[in-house]
Amino acid sequence: MTAFNRTALEEVLKKRFFYAPSFQAYGGVAGLYDYGPPGCALQANIIDLWRKHFVLEEEMLEMDGSIMTPAEVLKTSGHVDKFTDWMVKDLKIGEIFRADHLVEAVLETRLDGDKQARKAEAEGSVQPEKNKKEKKKGKIQTAVKLEDSVKADYEEILAKIDNYSGIELGAIIRKHGIKNPETGNDLSDPVEFNLMFESNIGPTGHLKGYLRPETAQGQFLNFKRFLEFNNDKMPFASASIGRSFRNEISPRSGLLRVREFVMAEIEHYVDPNNKDHPRFNEIKDLKLRFLPRVIQDEGKTEPIEITVDEAKIVDNQTLGYFLARIQLFLTKLGIKSDRLRFRQHMLNEMAHYACDCWDAEIQSSYGWIECVGCADRSAYDLTVHSNRTKEKLIVRESLAEPIVYEKTVLEINKKVFGPKLRQHAKSVEEYLTSLNEEQLEALKKSLQDGNGGTKVPGKDGNQYEITNEYLSINRQTFTEHVREYTPNVIEPSFGIGRILYSLIEHVYWTREDDEQRAVLSFPPRVAPFKCLLVPLSNNPAFTDLVADLSKRLRMLSIAIKVDDSSNSIGRRYARNDELGTPFAVTIDFQSVNDGTVTLRERDTTKQIRENVDTILQVLKDLVEENVTWEKVMELYPTFVTQQLE
Ligand code: AMP
Repeated sequence: MTAFNRTALEEVLKKRFFYAPSFQAYGGVAGLYDYGPPGCALQANIIDLWRKHFVLEEEMLEMDGSIMTPAEVLKTSGHVDKFTDWMVKDLKIGEIFRADHLVEAVLETRLDGDKQARKAEAEGSVQPEKNKKEKKKGKIQTAVKLEDSVKADYEEILAKIDNYSGIELGAIIRKHGIKNPETGNDLSDPVEFNLMFESNIGPTGHLKGYLRPETAQGQFLNFKRFLEFNNDKMPFASASIGRSFRNEISPRSGLLRVREFVMAEIEHYVDPNNKDHPRFNEIKDLKLRFLPRVIQDEGKTEPIEITVDEAKIVDNQTLGYFLARIQLFLTKLGIKSDRLRFRQHMLNEMAHYACDCWDAEIQSSYGWIECVGCADRSAYDLTVHSNRTKEKLIVRESLAEPIVYEKTVLEINKKVFGPKLRQHAKSVEEYLTSLNEEQLEALKKSLQDGNGGTKVPGKDGNQYEITNEYLSINRQTFTEHVREYTPNVIEPSFGIGRILYSLIEHVYWTREDDEQRAVLSFPPRVAPFKCLLVPLSNNPAFTDLVADLSKRLRMLSIAIKVDDSSNSIGRRYARNDELGTPFAVTIDFQSVNDGTVTLRERDTTKQIRENVDTILQVLKDLVEENVTWEKVMELYPTFVTQQLE
């Protein structure tokens, strides 16, 4: 197989209108894309599989929430203050870069140059002469050998690139002389940039809003309704599929970094005291490729392939269960398992709400890219929203055995307290009610030591005299029949566009005998179209058969594409190989005479010939992935066509 060629693939995707830059006639805008017919169908099929694999399989509670979100919600969730990236500016021309991405790109290019230079040195060939003008400008040099210590430094920075603060990124930029690679100009210090798109809700301009950067907040704010819908049973998950918006600093990697994208998110609510998963056994033998934090800390990137249980590094069973389910989903789609790894977040890298986080990263020509984030958000979101709104976002669990316990409690004697302390009563009461058990015991002792009297501060900071008459402090016994707790949330969050593009790279290849002939080997269930219907020519003799077959295929819910153009059959097959259409039914003169048609498979280009009823049944089984093409080839004789492929 020939080496992967991104330019060639992009050409195919453009020609077949998988996707294209939005508003291109007006020059387009970075990070905004339109999906054409095959892109749309592919996305719909990925979402369909996601829904079956997660929502239906696990009886999740799906919702569709508002995109426009009042600022207050996102202020409470922490996004207004913390949902930021670091950017640097070319000091002369003002071009903007995302700081960590720029450092990464420059150091990777330098390391590539070093590799080339070392190779050239080993082979005894002459190194390319340095371009003096470019050197002066500080542009990236190609094929320049680095000192061993510098090389090690670069490698370590790259392994920890997601872990740096703005100040650290600034220091790296200065230390390693990183400039704008195009102009060679100096860069500013990194400054923080909030990624949310801001707007106003309504005409007054008083109600500020943001386009949501994730679907999660809408789910959290419906927690009470979900719990009720689920008959108060825990654990359970909510799920949502929809668009999110992030004003990315300088999107330059096609569909992988866009400003508007479809997310599919799950919020799984668990008891913080028990994060086991009832179906953990089903995945316990599955091996995953883990890249834990400790390995990255050593500056290494080689993953270890073990089960979740063996790994002992994933914080809890539920998080581990989802990592395994994510792998099963992605490989079912057609993602190659040797190009998938689970990378644990470094401590600084974790989002403001997370306590452990793993990214499913898929390798493509853009490197290892996070396509699914899987975070334990602890009780963060439900707690902050509940504190802000005073709505209780908790679970009340009836206890089989009541809990009996003793506690030191304060009782204020209102009849004396108010009249004696008068206008200061509120301030002193606020202080007293803020005391914990230990502090109450200390106060009790100080009243005893002071023969029933002592001084306490009010909330206003002044000291006030109180006596035993004002209050009593005693140990009391309590019996609880209900336990109240705020659930923790495990969140797998999928970027559908990133998965879609990575999948396209994984299934793309060209025929050995013809590099111009690209094939996208989508598994049948995700392929945009399942079957190509081709009459041999546009002879009217085929019209009725084509119409009849189209109707029957539609009735079987098989997405078809009829190609009755005047191109040769071979050309038409090739066009559909590029669309990833796995099967083709061909109608020829023999079909008109004896009711048989041929069925061709995309990857092998092999065919069988049977009567229409048999072919339709076989096709249905193939599309639903109930049978493989290898099995079909065993069951039916191969048909050798005179038509040239
Ligand atoms: P995060 O909330 O940042 O962990 O993002 C969750 C998922 O959304 C990621 O795993 C990506 O698949 C996807 N995602 C995030 N940002 C972008 C973007 N700018 N373009 C496309 N997908 C994105």
